[in-house]
Amino acid sequence: MRSQCLIRRFRIPLPRCVQRRTLLTLAIETSCDDTSVAILEKHKNNSATLHFHETITSDNLKYGGVHPIEALSSHQKSLAGLINQALRSLPKRETTEVHGSILVKGTDGTQPRQKPDFVTVTRGPGMRSSLYTGLNTAKGLAVAWQVPLLGVNHMQAHALTPRLVAALDAKAVESTTPLEHDPAFPFLTLLVSGGHTMLVNSRSLCDHEILANMTDMAVGDAIDKCARDILPPAYLETATDVMYGRLLEAFAFPDKTPNFGYTPPSSFLKPRGNADHGYGWEIGQPFTSQGAETWRNNAALFTYSGLGSTVRRIKEQNLGMDDEERRALAKVTMAVAFEQLASRVLFALERSDVTKVDTLVVSGGVASNQFLKHILRTVLDSRGYEKIRVVFPPIKFCTDNAAMIAWTGIEMFEAGWRTSLEAMAVRKWAIDPRAEDGGILGVEGWERAE
Ligand code: AMP
Ligand code: ZN
Repeated sequence: MRSQCLIRRFRIPLPRCVQRRTLLTLAIETSCDDTSVAILEKHKNNSATLHFHETITSDNLKYGGVHPIEALSSHQKSLAGLINQALRSLPKRETTEVHGSILVKGTDGTQPRQKPDFVTVTRGPGMRSSLYTGLNTAKGLAVAWQVPLLGVNHMQAHALTPRLVAALDAKAVESTTPLEHDPAFPFLTLLVSGGHTMLVNSRSLCDHEILANMTDMAVGDAIDKCARDILPPAYLETATDVMYGRLLEAFAFPDKTPNFGYTPPSSFLKPRGNADHGYGWEIGQPFTSQGAETWRNNAALFTYSGLGSTVRRIKEQNLGMDDEERRALAKVTMAVAFEQLASRVLFALERSDVTKVDTLVVSGGVASNQFLKHILRTVLDSRGYEKIRVVFPPIKFCTDNAAMIAWTGIEMFEAGWRTSLEAMAVRKWAIDPRAEDGGILGVEGWERAE
């Protein structure tokens, strides 16, 4: 239903003045623990084809989370092989075409394949050593193929992900009429992952204003921590990775199509207590104990460490909790965590400079949670925002991946940006041009196309 809607919206033609051509890029993502490689082609009509997309994640289970040295060795081990595999998916060329081709060895012998127009790589933000594995490899490929390098911002790529998804969906639509990117700027993105909690107003390609940001820990990280306290020990032992949040959702809602039984709060100031779940404990929103003014004054902040401490205290005071009570605690913990997100979206929508926005994109690993989807939609509807479209890109494009990096490379390339071969990895790199470092274009190393 949603992708149909995206396709329909995508049909609006672009202004004539915008230059268009087919673009092919190989992209590398190594900012954290995922080694990911993609080959993406953007067609003249602005639809796109993903020829290759593979990701290998480092083994985090033995450390209980991301470990920089383990992540680095995983990149070093996996990246070259993934690129080698990717090259076999480059579009085929006629044997007579030598220009713009590279010879690639495959199972069917050596064949000429279309050379990428440029190489895209995540330049930051992220773990320095991990970033350099990708950046140095990308520089090597760009030099060997004599094509430009695009070193892009990972967070910008997360923000542009829904535009990639719309371009891939549009592939199915036969159209020679150029299509407008969807969602059009401005749109809101709620990035909810294991490392980030952010509400962003994407005003243009390089202007992503942070409306609310995390202070202590990310929502995914907090939910993982709570899950370890809430889940019965036998259930916890079934974990095959460290995404305990996923386990928490499965434990709280064992049915495939759950009835969430959720009622949006009339006020976020009131904690969820006995009247909501029938037990003796309660969990509230941060900043509310000093009243409505303090709550509103902190509309630009996310904080989740308090939720973790509250859940730990409830567990310690109720050592004999049975599974039913644990399930209630799981639901309330998630509801309170997600209502904090919803409340910041409401605060933002009330801002006069944000009222033009008609789309909210929810991205990051936590966005796969069905209860979150339900809460956001229900809260928005209950506050008169039925017309706001809430888009959840497929989860494979929400977690760290090279396809979103490739798309960002394509949008930046079309805007005339290139990256110098001297460009360094950027450990911390804002996407808001109002930030101290000047945001995406504030770092050294950008060049204009000749
Ligand atoms: P990311 O950082 O984007 O790779 O996402 C990983 C985070 O998403 C981890 O904290 C996971 O526990 C969390 N996560 C993944 N699936 C779910 C889910 N269904 N419910 C809540 N959190 C989840
Ligand atoms: Zn990320």
